[in-house]
Amino acid sequence: MQNLISKIASDHPELEIELGERFQFTPPNHLYYSDEPYEYPELLLLHELGHYLIGETDYSTDIELLEIEAKAWAKARELCEHYKIEYDEDFAEDRLDSYRDFLHQASLCKTCQLSGYQDDRGNYHCPLCGASWKRKNIKF
Ligand SMILES: [Zn+2]
Ligand SMILES: [Zn+2]
Repeated sequence: MQNLISKIASDHPELEIELGERFQFTPPNHLYYSDEPYEYPELLLLHELGHYLIGETDYSTDIELLEIEAKAWAKARELCEHYKIEYDEDFAEDRLDSYRDFLHQASLCKTCQLSGYQDDRGNYHCPLCGASWKRKNIKF
């Protein structure tokens, strides 16, 4: 892990890579990693580096968020070749699935349990009872 961190640091001297509570990219240039026992810490770090490199951090709908997540994983796969780390497709898919599940839950009307629809500001509306609720914010 330290090895990978030093390689990333020399490839991207503009990045601040620091120990944090979780793996996270915070624009414009902070990359946090965790020393908790994660299953694939290198992949998680490369995924966050992927977020930095694709440079898209704004989204208004959950679909856009999922697209950004998928792009960051595609980038992580390219980075794996560069850093000679084995990419694990199943792990990446699991992570994306947990986003999908979370977003599905967030889309359900608390009263009717129906899927709401999102307006272009990301707020949800129930097609049956007309309730509105805000999207939950996810950190990358
Ligand atoms: Zn409802
Ligand atoms: Zn991500």
